[in-house]
Amino acid sequence: MSTASGEASARDAVTASLARALEVGAGRAGLNILLYQDADGALREAAELDRRDLPERGPLHGTPVVVKDNIATTTLPTSCGSKILEGYVSPYEATAVARLRAAGAIIVGKSNMDEFAMGSSTENSAYGPARNPLAPDRVPGGSSGGSAAAVAAGIVRIALGSETGGSVRQPAAFCGVVGVKPTYGRVSRYGLVAFASSLDHVGVFGKTVDDAASGLQAIAGLDPLDSTCAAEPVPDYRGASRGGLTGVVIGRPKEYFPESLDPRIRAKCDAALEHLKSLGAEVRDVSLPHTNLAIEVYYIIAPAEASSNLARFDGVRYGLRIEGDGLRGMYEATRSNGFGPEVIRRIMLGTYVLSAGYYDAYYRKAQQVRGLIARDYAEVFNSGVHLLFTPTTPTTAFPIGSKSDPYEMYLSDIFTCTANLAGVPAMSLPIGRVDGLPVGGQLIANHFDERQMFVAAYALERELGQEAHR
Ligand code: GLN
Repeated sequence: MSTASGEASARDAVTASLARALEVGAGRAGLNILLYQDADGALREAAELDRRDLPERGPLHGTPVVVKDNIATTTLPTSCGSKILEGYVSPYEATAVARLRAAGAIIVGKSNMDEFAMGSSTENSAYGPARNPLAPDRVPGGSSGGSAAAVAAGIVRIALGSETGGSVRQPAAFCGVVGVKPTYGRVSRYGLVAFASSLDHVGVFGKTVDDAASGLQAIAGLDPLDSTCAAEPVPDYRGASRGGLTGVVIGRPKEYFPESLDPRIRAKCDAALEHLKSLGAEVRDVSLPHTNLAIEVYYIIAPAEASSNLARFDGVRYGLRIEGDGLRGMYEATRSNGFGPEVIRRIMLGTYVLSAGYYDAYYRKAQQVRGLIARDYAEVFNSGVHLLFTPTTPTTAFPIGSKSDPYEMYLSDIFTCTANLAGVPAMSLPIGRVDGLPVGGQLIANHFDERQMFVAAYALERELGQEAHR
């Protein structure tokens, strides 16, 4: 398989990727990582790319990539892991996808996900759970579980995911790969099917830090098609590999290392922090005091926005339609059959917290607390701290079917959803294993300072070497 170097031909790279997908059983009957594949289309594109002269080749020439099923592609369906959009093919392409293609990447498949990105395990997919390639009886995490798993299984080195509350970082941690959530506004969301617009991001997975940096490099930057996309200049992320950590202050927020934290995960984090120190960083104890309110705040704001965004799936404009008694009956039949139980739960929760009489008590209050969470970050970053280091998740990948209580599932996002609430960039990278299962370490930076995050990630990855996967 080719990397960003462009040495191997696009055709060889795509052929190897398709063969690997077959070998691991990535399709619905196997690991159920990929919902849609387009072998012929990918090979055709590869042949076209290979006809280009060297100077015309992009930085990702011939690099096979997998795209989460809620990011619009014109060559493959975009069903958001939902029955309501089964077989739906978008008439336009997401900006992130168009930019990957322009850089020479080739889309080889659309990945399984929790329906409409609501979940932390990919068990909420209408097409059945995806499996973790490292331990097939366990979840790959979610909601971008299929993308993380495709990278972990060696099908691609770069994949796109989406993040509303941790959906790239958490599956990256569970699958032992790198996952980046950029700053809110860094990457265009044009063509990302909206879940909770004030929290949604396009994110990227990489086999290595460099793969993730190459992917982000290709998709970052201003897009007139997304009014929330920022004009901040995009630095050279791959150049961060040459950066050092001398003088870099890394905060260790105490709220992310509670008494109850699994001691084996704590030990991996402590070891990573020791490595960062040995590389010249100063590690400082800090506090983000409103962290304990994040899950409650997230699970008010995200469902509220979702209830509004998902109103468009009404049987008229997109996908599924089930006739009923009149227009109202058609809406009811379509939506109650087309959406799965978690999506219905979110829509009901969201409608409730937005309704007259409850709006102030829930939604407005949650927005106020969200402001405090963002202020916690601002204060820490204004006090001379450049980065934060935390565990990405409180546990390693859990067995499929082991979390039946939705609240227990929501707690998987405890260390990740604050970065979405505050809009700051964050990433997860492998820092070791517990009982053979990957543990992710999380780096969080100030707004638009992804480069600083990559400096530390490159250095830590190099320093850990094989220890990251042991
Ligand atoms: N697990 C969270 C949720 O269910 C986050 C999902 C996401 O980031 N898309 O909402």
